[in-house]
Amino acid sequence: MIAENLNKVKETLHPGVELVAVSKFHPVEALQEAYDAGQRVFGESHVQELVAKQEVLPKDIVWHFIGHLQTNKVKYMAPFVSLIHAVDSVKLLKEIDKQAQKCERVIEVLLQVHVAAEETKFGFLPDELMAMLEAGEWRDMAHVRIVGLMAMATNTDDEVRIASDFECVRQLFGKVKERFFADLPTFQELSMGMSGDYLIAQEHGSTMVRVGSMIFGERHYN
Ligand SMILES: *Cc1c(COP(=O)(O)O)cnc(C)c1O
Repeated sequence: MIAENLNKVKETLHPGVELVAVSKFHPVEALQEAYDAGQRVFGESHVQELVAKQEVLPKDIVWHFIGHLQTNKVKYMAPFVSLIHAVDSVKLLKEIDKQAQKCERVIEVLLQVHVAAEETKFGFLPDELMAMLEAGEWRDMAHVRIVGLMAMATNTDDEVRIASDFECVRQLFGKVKERFFADLPTFQELSMGMSGDYLIAQEHGSTMVRVGSMIFGERHYN
């Protein structure tokens, strides 16, 4: 079932779009099944769960952290995490730099942008993002590499609104790339799109989609 779902999603992806299999709340057996079907990139949103799964699953899995991250928890994933999707403060960026240095690693991150209508979602507002990058502290952080932006669209059935949220992020990405990363080709990722809206996201420049329930089924929170 999981293998079939995975293939169905993959068939719909544009060439070059990376699939992050979002496995939060699913047991290791489910991840193993996806792994056996060829999936290597997994996304988790709780630190304890990520660490517990990383310990028992194959070592060539590429782990992405996609959730809201508290600074005091960075140290648990610093030894192995590949990409942290939702960096939304300089404080967090500094902590990732510090913990990555301890592990003698460079950790790749995405800056989360807030464009959705909901007030509860995390992320930099576009103006805040520009101001933060302008301030330039990130340039001195040798152990974090900012490789792009991440965003979530408004949680709505209105596809026009969803498309305009994603388009807004794509425009911002272009502006940020031109102004701050023109000489850094590693700034190239746009993490947008979940089960319900990844088809729209990839029409608006997404390079990385985070798909959970379409692969693993409904999550049972307990
Ligand atoms: C849970 C989650 C997803 C996956 O959501 P689905 O609707 O199950 O595909 C994607 N991105 C983030 C940030 C998430 O927390």
